[in-house]
Amino acid sequence: MTFPFESLKNSLPDLEAEAAENDRDSSFPTAGLACLRDLGALCAPLPKTLGGCGFGTDPGGGPGLLHLLRLTGEGNLSLGRLLEGHINAVRLIARYGTSAQLQKASTDILGGALFGIWVTETTNPVHITPDGATFLLHGEKMFASGALHVTRALITAETPDGETRMLLVPLDANRKASPAVGGLCGMRGAGTGSCDFTGIRVASDALTGHPGDYLRQPEFSAGAWRGMAVALGGIDRLVTLLRDQLVSRARDANPYQRTRIGEALIAQETAALWTRKAALVADDKTLPPGDVAATINLARIAVERAGLDVIERVQRSLGLSAFVKTNVVERIMRDLSTYLRQPAPDETLAEAAGWFTQRDLPQPDLHVTPKP
Ligand SMILES: Cc1cc2nc3c(=O)[nH]c(=O)nc-3n(C[C@H](O)[C@H](O)[C@H](O)COP(=O)(O)OP(=O)(O)OC[C@H]3O[C@@H](n4cnc5c(N)ncnc54)[C@H](O)[C@@H]3O)c2cc1C
Repeated sequence: MTFPFESLKNSLPDLEAEAAENDRDSSFPTAGLACLRDLGALCAPLPKTLGGCGFGTDPGGGPGLLHLLRLTGEGNLSLGRLLEGHINAVRLIARYGTSAQLQKASTDILGGALFGIWVTETTNPVHITPDGATFLLHGEKMFASGALHVTRALITAETPDGETRMLLVPLDANRKASPAVGGLCGMRGAGTGSCDFTGIRVASDALTGHPGDYLRQPEFSAGAWRGMAVALGGIDRLVTLLRDQLVSRARDANPYQRTRIGEALIAQETAALWTRKAALVADDKTLPPGDVAATINLARIAVERAGLDVIERVQRSLGLSAFVKTNVVERIMRDLSTYLRQPAPDETLAEAAGWFTQRDLPQPDLHVTPKP
């Protein structure tokens, strides 16, 4: 692992202080993002040959990426979401784009660009129409993290033939975006808003990959492990705060409180083990795609359950003090419970259960680096 993890660890108190400050007005984590940029976190997902650490793009880069996302989530879940979206976009360009597109993305990132992946549709989905040598966009995206700050948005759009394409849209200050969707109660610092692409024209080299690539398995499901890694960071922080606050109120030795501390630690470790397994399985090219997608879908639900269990233990252990705005726990619980709302959880569990009803889960060795 080449990333300066110690420096990131030392920055966590500053990231947390900014998250608390930003929560009030839904402000964007400008200082936190600058910190990540200075440390090289935005370049980390680039392949080593292009000046990155290969986190999520080179074979064996999974454990380093997990550590980066987990630590960032521990400091600020909203910042973690922004970093995760940036990394997701880079990963998709590396996976499906041309080498020229990846080279261009790396030049942009080294120059300070923030990427995002915006796929959630409104009632006015994004369409593209060929217009000479260019493409004309029409429609809107919602729940777009960093709506006012992402400078390269990888979006999905429908062609006149009904195909789904990915395209990378450069955005400047003239974008038609709004920073907040109806006032989210958690993750208020992720700048999650909507963006209207109507009237934007892009060159044909904006198209990334082939029709259907975005939904192609196992990549489509596998990418969810990175969101789990960020959520795991939030779980880590809540478990630390639970123990610290019980100790500072001299309530930690009570047997019922000890039971809850134990249960929270079990949930935290469950989330960590599933996330690690998901990261390894996502990188293992020897596994059948169905095994990869279904394992990561199970992991997603396991991490969601673990996060909800920890929130419940924190609430019962700290009581009303966990609901007081001045207690950092209150915001992190709101952020984590919002972040855990990922798409189609019922379908995710049911599909994975169906896949593994007549076959066993893969068992990667959790101590080895994944096979290329
Ligand atoms: C902080 C934050 C940042 C985000 N950033 C981005 C971003 O940058 N880019 C982006 O594209 N998206 C983003 N999203 C959106 C995110 O990816 C998901 O789309 C969103 O969180 C889905 O949540 P949901 O609970 O509404 O999911 P849903 O899938 O609507 O699930 C809600 C419930 O409905 C059930 N359900 C789902 N489908 C059906 C159906 N057809 N019939 C009946 N029941 C159904 C589910 O099982 C579940 O019980 C963000 C979300 C958050 C919270």
